[in-house]
Amino acid sequence: MAHNLIVNYGLYKHMEVFKPVLVDAMEMTRFHTDDYVDFLRTVTPDNMHDHLRSLKRYNIGDDCPVFDGLYEFCQVSASGSLGGAAKLNRGDADVCINWAGGLHHAKRSEASGFCYVNDCVLAILELLKVHRRVLYVDIDIHHGDGVEEAFYTTDRVMTCSFHKFGDYFPGTGHWKDIGYGQGKRYSVNCPLRDGMDDDSFREVFRPVIATIMERYQPEAVVLQCGADSLAGDRLGCFNLSLKGHAGAVEYVRSFGLPTLVLGGGGYTMRNVARCWTYETSVLTGIAIDDELPYNDYFEYYGPDYRLQIESSNMENLNSRKYLEEVTARILESLRGIEAAPGIEVQTGSSARTPKILELAPDEDDEDESERTGRAETRRRQHKGEYYDSVRDHDVDPDGGLGEHEGAGPSSSSSSSSSSSAAAAAAASAESGGPGSSSSGTA
Ligand SMILES: [Zn+2]
Repeated sequence: MAHNLIVNYGLYKHMEVFKPVLVDAMEMTRFHTDDYVDFLRTVTPDNMHDHLRSLKRYNIGDDCPVFDGLYEFCQVSASGSLGGAAKLNRGDADVCINWAGGLHHAKRSEASGFCYVNDCVLAILELLKVHRRVLYVDIDIHHGDGVEEAFYTTDRVMTCSFHKFGDYFPGTGHWKDIGYGQGKRYSVNCPLRDGMDDDSFREVFRPVIATIMERYQPEAVVLQCGADSLAGDRLGCFNLSLKGHAGAVEYVRSFGLPTLVLGGGGYTMRNVARCWTYETSVLTGIAIDDELPYNDYFEYYGPDYRLQIESSNMENLNSRKYLEEVTARILESLRGIEAAPGIEVQTGSSARTPKILELAPDEDDEDESERTGRAETRRRQHKGEYYDSVRDHDVDPDGGLGEHEGAGPSSSSSSSSSSSAAAAAAASAESGGPGSSSSGTA
């Protein structure tokens, strides 16, 4: 749905849309365990009853159901992010987008919150092959727990999540959770309450990100843009307008670092499509009309048929005092970090070598040409493929995802900055979504 709107606004003309090579199970095991990936690959709605123990062990069930095409869905989502990261590594693009990614809850050996394979973690691991420090920023209303956990003990990745905290899924993300060991102070959590509006969000987001940029000096950024922090989301309880949400994207982008932009949650489906379309326009620097162009899902956008989403009159439970306190605690912690960790420091004749993250044990075994060449075989999509949306028509107007967290919009589109345009699109746009529904997220 987002892909279709992006295409009908003509934004694809300002990007390079590409189809990454599908990741295989081996690549998924750079983060996930072999047995978990094996299970994802083999379980189907027909044989799941023979695997009751495993279902429980891997948390597959309520929020993370088994559906036809589950493994392909994971592959598509992860491929867009890994392909985008590889493209950034080669300097082929300065921004890559995978709206079908951002599945930030998945753990090493466990599914969670409709996330099975953590494409964010896999992409960050790819970026670490080239970049010494990677910043992960998460504006989904849910805490980015899976990504935080993966990098909790290293200073090569700083994770920074802005989320609703307090009696809310997944329950983690207190401001006191700042990382451990070598990673102490490199996990940043900004716990927020119901009703966050644009002004409040900007007041905490900007100083925190500015301080991170100044102190940590990341060389690449992964930005998870979950749309469930928008006003009117079915599961969310924030009150951000679309411009407020996109303001965070614009601000992160203003630092000019190689950036991988990912989707994430979002449960009022028409607004998810609006959000990621507008953010694609922000990232490409192409202004688009508030009046929606005709598209395959036009009737879903009634009664106004407009792009923008405004805040409601919902009460903001984040007092100024509370926000100032939280921001102050975070900034205090950030001031304690070593500036730009990992840089070689020459002290007389001895040099301190960069710290190496050991999360990808088999990385060294990989054939170098295979790794760096993974994207060379990607082909650019033919223009006609942008209009391939036959299957999307089964989508229920409001998502039809019930209570569980759905899966990214059927299309993963990609883009890059205005000039050098390039982007990561998840492989086959139409294979997203559980079952016949092609919406949803994490
Ligand atoms: Zn979410």
